[in-house]
Amino acid sequence: MAEKTVESESALKGHDFSRAASLAQKMGALAPEGKRDEPANSPAPRARVQAMKEYHPPLGCRDALRLDFNENTLECSPRVREVLAQISAGALTRYPEREPVEAIVAAYLGLRAEQVALTNGVDEAIHVLFETFLEADDEVLLPVPTYTMYEVYASATNARVVTVQAADDLQFPFERLLAAITARTKVIAIANPNSPSGSVATRAQLLELARRAPQAVLLVDEAYFHFHGETVMDLAGTLPNLVVARTFSKAYGLAGLRLGLLAGPAELMRWVRRVLSPYSVNSLALACLPPAFEDTAYLDWYVSEVLAARGEFETVLDAAGVKRWPSRTNFILVEIGARHSEFVRLMRAAGVLVRDRSSDPGCDGRVRITIGTREQMKQAGAALNEALAALRVESGK
Ligand code: PMP
Repeated sequence: MAEKTVESESALKGHDFSRAASLAQKMGALAPEGKRDEPANSPAPRARVQAMKEYHPPLGCRDALRLDFNENTLECSPRVREVLAQISAGALTRYPEREPVEAIVAAYLGLRAEQVALTNGVDEAIHVLFETFLEADDEVLLPVPTYTMYEVYASATNARVVTVQAADDLQFPFERLLAAITARTKVIAIANPNSPSGSVATRAQLLELARRAPQAVLLVDEAYFHFHGETVMDLAGTLPNLVVARTFSKAYGLAGLRLGLLAGPAELMRWVRRVLSPYSVNSLALACLPPAFEDTAYLDWYVSEVLAARGEFETVLDAAGVKRWPSRTNFILVEIGARHSEFVRLMRAAGVLVRDRSSDPGCDGRVRITIGTREQMKQAGAALNEALAALRVESGK
């Protein structure tokens, strides 16, 4: 009993709420997942919501080298810091006004203001897009494995999720995706580059998907665009069913501000705007966006540092005999095998957080490692070699 108390206290101190929740559940304080313990006459959520899986990203206790969420591992542009420091207390009393910043962003992207909407991270963009377009019995087509939140938000609607499993090489399953399009396909969501695989779809493949499913919105999520360099943003205002998303959480280093954007034809974006809250992007994020865009020197530096670090880290993985999937992003998926949880635990003990992707479809035994700076990846490489050596000793190999 004494031991249990110590454990639950430390979980809460570190703000590891998911761990704290599971402890509370074990101790009988919460109902098991999926079961409601309210009195029979309390308000019931929609059936679809009751059927949703719980999603608790492991955000607790992250004071270590963060190679687990594909964020910028260092800091944002110093120009953004300066703007943040100048925001007055008075400015915070006003509701945020997004339109002038949307116009700046649109000009930067070569689009018209009505073709761009700023969002509270790409997650809100996905959520709002799905709410805008999906009716009961519509189909959301997803190549898997892919970014978890597509399925989370799709499962909150009355649409049906149709997944197309990538082969073991985890390349973009283009032909099978085309074959899975039906008259009911209403949204096709493609992360390009994809997470956790790091694979890419070509421009020609994306255009063909858009052409073959004119009744569907093709969402191309370019969260990792800066590390890949290829885009379909130039078509966002003109192709009738293409919507492109970008985030400021990765290369720009602003994950904590929650800032993303959606770009598409004005005819689609006006419906998106009906669902989107006019206030969801806060004034700090709005103020930081222009300097983030303008400081291309910082962005170029960070991206080239990560690409150099990725090359060096690939050499470390190859020397250690660790299978890896080709990556066009700021992360690499690696094969660890049956002892993936132990590997992740050993890395954490060495101060390096990496993400177990074993529960993703077709990813058993696989771990995703974000790429930071060269110096950070030296630390990660040393930790990886030690963790692998420890696993080998334990298994007597
Ligand atoms: N799309 C993809 C493909 C991602 O990997 C992520 C972040 N993990 C997001 C969107 C979420 O971006 P944001 O932080 O802007 O919500």
